Order: sequence, then structure tokens, then C-alpha cells
Amino acid sequence: MELSNRQQQIIEIVKDNGPITGEKIADRLHLRRATLRPDLAILTMAGFLEARPRVGYFYTGKTGSELLTEKIKEYRVHEFQHVPIVVKEHTSVYDAISTMFLEDVGTLFVVDDSACIIGVLSRKDLLRASIGNQDLNAIPVHIIMTRMPNITVCRKEDLLINVAQKLINNQIDGVPVVKDAQAGLEVVGRITKTTITKVFVELIRQDDI
Ligand code: ADP
Repeated sequence: MELSNRQQQIIEIVKDNGPITGEKIADRLHLRRATLRPDLAILTMAGFLEARPRVGYFYTGKTGSELLTEKIKEYRVHEFQHVPIVVKEHTSVYDAISTMFLEDVGTLFVVDDSACIIGVLSRKDLLRASIGNQDLNAIPVHIIMTRMPNITVCRKEDLLINVAQKLINNQIDGVPVVKDAQAGLEVVGRITKTTITKVFVELIRQDDI
């Protein structure tokens, strides 16, 4: 976040004199309190300053990157998950490949009739099955998928940073977001490397505003 000169001056004043009221900050800058209001709101919202009613402004002592880190650590799966793209276990490899193209995803989740996870199909799983002259319409995906219980999943309340760590540790491109259901783990979303990349870019963009 780029701070304006005035915002930097405010931070310096609060650092040296806090707790200090908005009125007094304004006096020191020879400005009216109303003129400072937007700057104080931005600095408080961004976490540089803390406002206590009837006491005044404190400097939190946090740097821009500390605040950014804090923000990332609070992100949870449900804020960012996308719609899952699923197929059934008897879907052919041919149809699964078509679905991957049509839906523009790199990972498909294989579910049973209750929408519960039973497998995962990656691009390489489908490529591997396609090598040679096999009839791809005749091979059902359950033969080639990675199956439960070996599937890494996450839940909507999980921290996004922990899911990103799972993607790295397990060298996978995506995980299904699941919830407990009677028949197993129902697939309700997906988090992929693309999700994490989007969050990363958005964070930096927000920070520039
Ligand atoms: P690609 O194979 O296209 O590089 P991945 O790295 O995601 O894509 O997949 C590598 C292997 O891990 C594949 O065999 C795939 O079935 C499996 N896999 C993918 N996602 C998961 C997951 N969430 N849990 C367990 N295994 C997975």
C-alpha cells in the first residue's frame, strides 16, 4: 500500500505522541479535523493505526508486509472456492477428456450418486490412459483415477494458506472442498493452483489501490 505524504506524517505524529486525538493530529498539521477524516479512516482500516473511543489513535507498530501477512493468514476456503467439475465413475475416459476441455479445468472429481467423492482425475491421468491405441470410449474413469482414501481434501472453514501448503506438499494441482454427508464426503467446491494465483494477484492489486 502506497501511503501519501500526509498519511506518513500522520503515522509519525501518532508514533511519537500516541494516544492522540484526531483533533490534536489536525492541529499539528494545521488542518481541519474533517480534512483528516478520510486519511485516518484509511490508516485505521489498513491496520497501521488503532482507534480507541475517547482515548485517541495508537500506532500498531505493524509494517505493510506484516499487515499483508496477517490478511493472508485469515483467508478461508469458502471465500475463494470455485464450483467443482465432477464426473461419475462409469464415465468413459473419452468423455472425461471432453469435460475437461469444455469446462476448462485441469482436475475432475469423480463422485457417486450422492455427490460424494470417490476419485480424482488429473490431466496426466487422462494422458496416460490415452497413450497407445486403446478405445477411450471403452475405459471407465474408475480404472485410472486416484481413489479414496488417498484423496487430499479440504473443508470450507480451512485456512487457504494451509490448502496451498497441501498442494505443494502433495504435488497436486487441486483439492475438492468437501462436507460431511451420510454417504461420505460430499463435494461442494474446488481449490486449485489457479485459485491461489488469483488471490495472490488480487491481494497485491488491492494493496496498490
Ligand atoms: P497432473 O497429473 O496433471 O500433473 P496433478 O499434479 O494434480 O496433475 O496430479 C498428480 C497425481 O495426483 C494424479 O495421479 C492425480 O490423480 C493425483 N491427484 C490430484 N489431485 C489429488 C488430490 N486432491 N488428492 C489425491 N491425489 C490427487
